[in-house]
Amino acid sequence: MQVFTSLKAFLDFRKDYLAKTGFVPTMGALHAGHLSLVKQALEENEQVIVSIFVNPAQFGPSEDFNKYPRTPENDLEKLKDLSKVIVLMPPKEEVYLQHPYFSISCGSLGNVLCGKTRPDHFNGVCLIVNKLFNLIGPCNAYFGRKDFQQTVILNRMVKELNLPINLIVCPTVREADGLALSSRNIYLNQEERKQAIGLFETLKLMKSSASIGNPVPELVKSGKEYFKRFPALKLDYLEIVNKEDLSTPDLIFSENNPVVAIAAYCGSTRLIDNIDLFG
Ligand code: AMP
Repeated sequence: MQVFTSLKAFLDFRKDYLAKTGFVPTMGALHAGHLSLVKQALEENEQVIVSIFVNPAQFGPSEDFNKYPRTPENDLEKLKDLSKVIVLMPPKEEVYLQHPYFSISCGSLGNVLCGKTRPDHFNGVCLIVNKLFNLIGPCNAYFGRKDFQQTVILNRMVKELNLPINLIVCPTVREADGLALSSRNIYLNQEERKQAIGLFETLKLMKSSASIGNPVPELVKSGKEYFKRFPALKLDYLEIVNKEDLSTPDLIFSENNPVVAIAAYCGSTRLIDNIDLFG
């Protein structure tokens, strides 16, 4: 018999019996960013479940739920030769009951950065990811670093609610010029596409000019100044935050794992990106 009187020790023990199943949740319109998650999951698991589900709960009333790109045939074509992949693409009527009583809130973590312009977005993300985790069962779940705030919130959700999930964050896949791949990039016209590199260019500039001990507002100010070189882009936010709790430090220190996060409108398309200031 084995007895655990500490949760920490039990969770370490639990890690060993979590199934060797990988899970990659997506909203479809698959691109090389999604496929990099699938590839890593295949390398680390016996089977990989890829869900394709455009989640209504994470879109605001004036957002692009109806016009969000849906390309199921193309998506299946991209996955069809992967024998260990199982695709789950349920209709929304099966995923959401008609008169729900329950909800989930990620509290103030969902009110900062993207949450300022997308209220309830992260509550909707937490709800669907929770539902999918329950449907799939214990697994290794893969998420992209491109959606930085999402990874922070989901990591916290897994920890705080003791979900039987091992969450793995994978690097952002970029176009050759640095633009982070996104299903929404297809909305960009030629000129917008050219200027869309302004997000990553600004992040790189800030990373290269960051010095330990400098005030955060100064670095943010210089980033905003540089961003003006891309007049087709309208800045939503440019912030430096701690990786664990998304709070803003006063001074730059490598111990807070500072991350620069940016969101901007390129025409009517909202793009996001982020970079570690160190490492
Ligand atoms: P989505 O279909 O946009 O909800 O994305 C599904 C998953 O793919 C999320 O975990 C995203 O963070 C991840 N993802 C999207 N774009 C990229 C990218 N360019 N590089 C790496 N992962 C990505």
